[in-house]
Amino acid sequence: MDKKVRVRYAPSPTGFLHIGGARSALFNYLYAKRNNGDFVFRIEDTDIERNVKGGEESQLNDLVWLGIVPDESPLNPNPKFAPYRQMERLDMYHKYAKWLIDQGYAYECYCTEEELDASREEQYARGINAPKYDRHCVHLSEEEKEKYRKEGRKPCIRLKLEDHLTISFDDMIRGKVTFNNDDIGDWVIMKSNGIPTYNFAVVIDDHMMEITHVLRGEEHLSNTPKQIQLYKYFGWEVPTFGHMTIIVNENGKKLSKRDNNILQFMSQYRELGYLPEAIFNFILLLGWTPNEEREMFTLDEAKQIFDPSRMSASPSMFDQHKLNWMNAQYIRKLNDEDYLVFIKPYLAKVVDVNNYSDEQLLFMANMFKNEILYGAQIVDLLKPLFDYHLEENEEIKEILNLDSTPIVLKSFEKHLSDAQNLEVDTMKQLFKDVGAETGVKGKLLYMPIRLMITGQMHGAELVNIIKLLGKEEILRRLNK
Ligand code: GLU
Repeated sequence: MDKKVRVRYAPSPTGFLHIGGARSALFNYLYAKRNNGDFVFRIEDTDIERNVKGGEESQLNDLVWLGIVPDESPLNPNPKFAPYRQMERLDMYHKYAKWLIDQGYAYECYCTEEELDASREEQYARGINAPKYDRHCVHLSEEEKEKYRKEGRKPCIRLKLEDHLTISFDDMIRGKVTFNNDDIGDWVIMKSNGIPTYNFAVVIDDHMMEITHVLRGEEHLSNTPKQIQLYKYFGWEVPTFGHMTIIVNENGKKLSKRDNNILQFMSQYRELGYLPEAIFNFILLLGWTPNEEREMFTLDEAKQIFDPSRMSASPSMFDQHKLNWMNAQYIRKLNDEDYLVFIKPYLAKVVDVNNYSDEQLLFMANMFKNEILYGAQIVDLLKPLFDYHLEENEEIKEILNLDSTPIVLKSFEKHLSDAQNLEVDTMKQLFKDVGAETGVKGKLLYMPIRLMITGQMHGAELVNIIKLLGKEEILRRLNK
């Protein structure tokens, strides 16, 4: 019987969920679901200085928001595999580190930072441009170790690599990848503070948690031979690896978390009013091509059709315009009820939503439903309607100085005062009546009225604005 597929997303809680992390999580999740497998959320928190408070919680929340719900996590553990935070698994790492030492596969290293620096400098001086650990401590006697300990030195543990060993694996995305141990050097598996390094802990955990496939970012490609060496020493089955390509910006440069021009964190998108369905769909196409022309997919559809062989081996471009377009499509598809729930927090930035019925709020929001790319955009569109401010430019001055303008405004005011209601049809008729009465048509008719009501030459449909603001407010503005 084939082994059950088990994959994981294993973030370090050093920050919020990044677009690249969300992509790793998504593709692992889809791979698991396509193969009736499990998707595990594990926390790699051994870099204790860089951990941030709330990192784990926010990453998990953002994943669930996207619809990527782990089958196992610190909050939803399977007792067979728990715990799910590396700092709670230290005993296990110590046990395996000791085993490696006992087998002669690892050794204590007492070198200080200064000594390591000096050794590197010396190698550079000899023309070696990728210096490695010089194995100073590989054969220390007990006496020598004792002497170092007396000096107050605390050892780290290094893995003793097999010399000249070629390590190859079949990457799910890039095909055969080959490294040679001679380019790597004996690396640290346990730091002197007793905390394992990423490359060590990840192997123990992936094995203990019965992970079958590891899909992760390209930045981990060079870690994989280190990890495979460990699997070999332990005699464990090596999982299948796949390394996803980097995500680049429009200039072809790798997305950097420090690049403030591009929003990269889920929390930022949530805050601005992007829909999880749109973000999910966008990330899905970031490095994966469906077998058909279509671009819009639901999560359930993706679970059915996800085929990892269609993951791209060349960089994926992060196209903000495309994301905005996609989000707009999803906003337009929302029904009234969902749209109102989605948009209300943004309306609340402009008006006191308690003063309006849901019907009124929906009317307000629908005026811009086909226009906004994300929720927060409605704030700037709506604000001018409630905060009258006459724009000033030559064109506006000209319109206001036309002989016909006072005549149009007077007629409009009269008809509006008499209007039975402000429904769209009534208003359309009203404009016709004003036009007939004054003999003014088109822009010369509408523009003075728009300017007196909104202060701007452009914006939402006038008849909608009139209905939204109400007769009293419009007459007040006309009289000012
Ligand atoms: N904690 C690692 C990271 O956040 C996980 C890498 C892996 O998937 O092995 O990059």
